[in-house]
Amino acid sequence: MLIIKKKQLDEIINHSCREYPLEACGIAAGRGNLIEEIYPLTNQDRSAVTYFASPEEQVKAFKDMREKGLELLAIYHSHPASEAWPSATDVKQAFYPESAYLIVSLKDLDKPDIKAFKILDGKIEEITIRVAGDHHAHQSIR
Ligand SMILES: [Zn+2]
Repeated sequence: MLIIKKKQLDEIINHSCREYPLEACGIAAGRGNLIEEIYPLTNQDRSAVTYFASPEEQVKAFKDMREKGLELLAIYHSHPASEAWPSATDVKQAFYPESAYLIVSLKDLDKPDIKAFKILDGKIEEITIRVAGDHHAHQSIR
């Protein structure tokens, strides 16, 4: 399970909406399973169907995480036109087995959908996202 506060959740969703109709990508860092900091990264692909996070910005984000004692908890990206489910490319490029993968679907722009996954050896496992301060597990978040 991943726990995220409303503020960080909004940051991810707002970033995804800003980049629409292109894919947005970034890093979510924190302690244990609580996400505390979001690092929006530039998608150098400038694509609606793929992402490639700026290596320079990744280095900066990891440096900041080290200074703050935060770990990489999740890598997020948006799917401007498809479901919040890992694509074949996402599975192939899941290079961080200890990280979760967050996918924001903007298929329905009025109702962004965010889901979290572990991707290990080509296998996809959905994990629960809980919004801190809320007792219910969220599958769909407006
Ligand atoms: Zn994807």
